[in-house]
Amino acid sequence: MTAPQLRDDTLELIGNTPLVLLQGPSEAAGCEIYGKCEFANPGASVKDRAALGIIRDAEARGDLKPGGTIVEGTAGNTGIGIALVANALGYKTIIVMPDNQSKEKMDTLRALGAQLVTVPPTKFSDCNHFVHTSRRLAEETDGAIWANQFDNTANRKVHIETTAAELWEQMEGRIDGFTCAAGTGGTIAGVGLGLKAFDEDIRIALTDPHGAALYSYFAEGELKAEGSSVAEGIGQGRITANLEGAPIDTQFRISDEEGLDWVARLLREEGLCLGLSSGINVAGAIALGRQLVEEGREKPRVATILCDTGFRYLSTIYNADWLEAKGLPVFEWLRD
Ligand code: PMP
Repeated sequence: MTAPQLRDDTLELIGNTPLVLLQGPSEAAGCEIYGKCEFANPGASVKDRAALGIIRDAEARGDLKPGGTIVEGTAGNTGIGIALVANALGYKTIIVMPDNQSKEKMDTLRALGAQLVTVPPTKFSDCNHFVHTSRRLAEETDGAIWANQFDNTANRKVHIETTAAELWEQMEGRIDGFTCAAGTGGTIAGVGLGLKAFDEDIRIALTDPHGAALYSYFAEGELKAEGSSVAEGIGQGRITANLEGAPIDTQFRISDEEGLDWVARLLREEGLCLGLSSGINVAGAIALGRQLVEEGREKPRVATILCDTGFRYLSTIYNADWLEAKGLPVFEWLRD
């Protein structure tokens, strides 16, 4: 057993997250399914990495000056990552969020000292969409940069350099497949590109929730959305700059019900409290594992991302009334 590392700087706490073998998913897939514990980052999500990568890149370019402001449009987690990194480096933060995201994420952003602006959820083509609003606010604010996580490829670069490299090392080069869902696409594209650079044969699968357009894009070449999902932070309708050239070999579409079932099982059987995107990722990893087993790959090993903590969703997917109102199954232990 190696001793936990001593870090000289709080920002070094971002990344180098543990990787864990998931028992239930491995049994279900008939192979080994591993989860990268991104909830273990200081901001409790995978987006701390992108926040740090984007801020360091803006500093290196000379765009972000001491005492400056970082403006971003986000489902919440990137904002939380940016607020923490900005506090550590002496920057201010302005975050624009659609107001249908969890109350916990909004409360967290305010608690961290970010200036929070909420807007109604709209289509990307609407000029009041949270992404466009954040760009305008950045333009109007002195000394501000726009993080632009969707189309700023400093986002996927950090996943090539850290997440993919960590997975390769933690799995000692024995990894057959990787999958996750896309919000910005930074994680799937960055980890995909990074892993393929180590070994071209690693199968990279996109896991898409309902209501997103990427499944049909990679399956049929056409961006087409069907249905809907309550999962926060994932579900993309366009090819962002981060997704351009992503090495996607195959794709799966996973329902909220299936994702929630894995959220419930991972909590009750393995003691992990996760958000819905993690459950959807795990269901996708099982589908990928089964595909590799069926093709005769011997004892395949598949990894996915456990994106954020479930404590961020106590008022949503861990709340019986909320689940009922959405027409989703209520976790057995929450029923009265
Ligand atoms: N899960 C959650 C909970 C997220 O907040 C995000 C980020 N939007 C993702 C998954 C997807 O990550 P990425 O932006 O790298 O595609």
